[in-house]
Amino acid sequence: MRIQPWNLVFLVGFIVYLGIRYVFARRTRGNEKAISRIGRDSILIVIVGVGSLLLPVLYLFTPWLAFADYRLPARAPWFGTAVMCLALWLFWRSHADLGPNWSVTLEVRKGHQLVKHGVYRLIRHPMYAAIWLFSLAQGLLLQNWLAGWSGLVLFGLMYFLRTPREEQMMYEVFGQEYRDYMRQTGRIFPRLH
Ligand code: SAH
Repeated sequence: MRIQPWNLVFLVGFIVYLGIRYVFARRTRGNEKAISRIGRDSILIVIVGVGSLLLPVLYLFTPWLAFADYRLPARAPWFGTAVMCLALWLFWRSHADLGPNWSVTLEVRKGHQLVKHGVYRLIRHPMYAAIWLFSLAQGLLLQNWLAGWSGLVLFGLMYFLRTPREEQMMYEVFGQEYRDYMRQTGRIFPRLH
């Protein structure tokens, strides 16, 4: 492994990130699905996995990506660490607030509730906001342009393809209630009234 302090910071953050996912995936494992819109979602999840899992792991544990190494400004990783902490907090809170309604792919569970409290009060996609922040932190911590920025680019692709489909699905299920919720909130930035 490339033992370098900022790589270790990234690795610790990454393990916490996976740990949060694991805990909540276990909690929601038995929930029954009412609607499933997986479609191209599974391909997008694999693509995101390349940017946020495969390339960082190859960078950290093999010399294969050394051709893409570069030096970041000295302050960037400090900023990246702060962004990573914020990302992990938001990632944890959004899982906790969604509770049994969370799923990796586009699904609606039996007895699904529209969550509008906690971090969902101001924005509709706090979990995606957390992943944006985590991907930004990845770029600011890993001194390799490929492993660093692939997460942000590939997650961006997924975000722009998936979010409209997710909102359409939520609107079909919750109707006017979701429309009203959309009016009161922004996607990943709070709406300025
Ligand atoms: N886009 C949200 C949730 C991501 S998890 C976020 O970024 O925080 C994806 C699943 O969450 C979807 O399948 C959908 O069923 C569910 N979901 C999304 N928004 C929701 C909400 N406000 N209340 C309840 N479930 C929601």
